Amino acid sequence: MTIEILEKNKCTGCYTCYNACPKNCIAMERDHEGFSYPIIDKKKCVECGLCEKACPILHKVVVKTNTTTPDIFAAWSLNDTIRLNSTSGGIFSEIALSFLEKGGYLCGARYGEKHHIEHCVVNTAEGLEKIRQSKYAQSDIGYVYRDIKKLLDNDQKVLFCGTPCECAGLRNYLRKDYENLTVVDFVCRGSNSPKVYEKFLEYLEEKYQSKITKVWFKNKTYGWNRFSTKVEFENGQSYLEDRYHDKYIVGYIRYNLYIRPSCAHCEYKTFPRVSDITLADFWGIKLDNPELDIEKGTSLVMINSLKGKNLYKNIERGIFSERKTFSDAFGGNACISTSPIMNPKRQYFFEHLDTMTFDALTKKCFKDKWTVRIKQRFIQIIPLKLKNWIKKAIKQ
Ligand SMILES: Cc1cc2nc3c(=O)[nH]c(=O)nc-3n(C[C@H](O)[C@H](O)[C@H](O)COP(=O)(O)OP(=O)(O)OC[C@H]3O[C@@H](n4cnc5c(N)ncnc54)[C@H](O)[C@@H]3O)c2cc1C
Repeated sequence: MTIEILEKNKCTGCYTCYNACPKNCIAMERDHEGFSYPIIDKKKCVECGLCEKACPILHKVVVKTNTTTPDIFAAWSLNDTIRLNSTSGGIFSEIALSFLEKGGYLCGARYGEKHHIEHCVVNTAEGLEKIRQSKYAQSDIGYVYRDIKKLLDNDQKVLFCGTPCECAGLRNYLRKDYENLTVVDFVCRGSNSPKVYEKFLEYLEEKYQSKITKVWFKNKTYGWNRFSTKVEFENGQSYLEDRYHDKYIVGYIRYNLYIRPSCAHCEYKTFPRVSDITLADFWGIKLDNPELDIEKGTSLVMINSLKGKNLYKNIERGIFSERKTFSDAFGGNACISTSPIMNPKRQYFFEHLDTMTFDALTKKCFKDKWTVRIKQRFIQIIPLKLKNWIKKAIKQ
């Protein structure tokens, strides 16, 4: 027997089968789109079936003890350095710090060599800095589920953060509930192709004639609502474009051009969630106190389990937190429950990915329409600037 996910487009690339195989006979290989899929070396396979048992698509994970109506909060870290260096309100880092204080381990996505996005296990504040922030391509999980199991079996506390399908994969791999494991997922629009991300970086290196030293998605130079992509180069130059002009982000969030096929029918945008805590951006946030500055980043926090509730209580002293309702949360964030619709030009995009530059290809697939830009300026950016000016004027 070999792993049978009959339709390739259902495989989420969560690496669970790869971790579960006792003979290490599964390799994760990239297809022409740059997404990884399991390939079995049939000569080595002993047909134990563990890969199929672990697959979170063939065997859906439902955490029965998790609630279908989570407690919902708008929140952020009171530490401005953490908040400004995080994607949303920095709540992940606050949770992570509470683990580090107790000698626990963290597992999340970092930029590795050549800015390759990969999961790793860390247990220091420096390690936390590396896994902080959203990285907008699918993370290479490697064998971290095995590392996590070893730590859990040795009674170490572990905090895992990943996409909902990765969290489900980890739970299936472990095959039992560990009291010393906490799982945090996030509202996930979908996973971008690592190959497209590499092509984007390649295009920037060519344009700036220099090697990249740092990649930073959802940088807050222009504020949280108008998040930007910032890339720094060896020659001291930097690239900074907001969400309306950075082609990589536009291709992702406006056009769904290079998202993994399985994300189009995500099985884990459901309640109960597979995690103890779900994090997201609190888009559309309205606070009771208008004095509070949401522009440094605001997290949407969903507490799904008793473990999550106790953990959140533990960090409450270091954060601002205001209770919200389900409709407050859903109002501004369709991705909580809706999967992205794949772009009809997706096939054309991938057919030409090897022969065209990222810039040329995106120009073919979407137009930076002046009407859209003007609309954005008038409807989104100018009112935001006005609001900030008025706020500043009132303070003076
Ligand atoms: C691919 C992706 C899509 C997202 N889509 C949405 C969305 O549509 N709507 C929304 O409201 N929020 C979305 N988020 C979540 C949001 O961007 C923030 O990550 C979340 O709100 C937590 O923010 P924070 O400030 O608390 O922590 P952060 O410091 O931002 O922590 C992020 C955590 O996520 C992990 N992580 C980062 N990148 C990856 C990755 N590629 N794969 C797996 N784990 C990763 C990090 O290791 C870290 O543990 C998405 C995040 C990612 C990575």
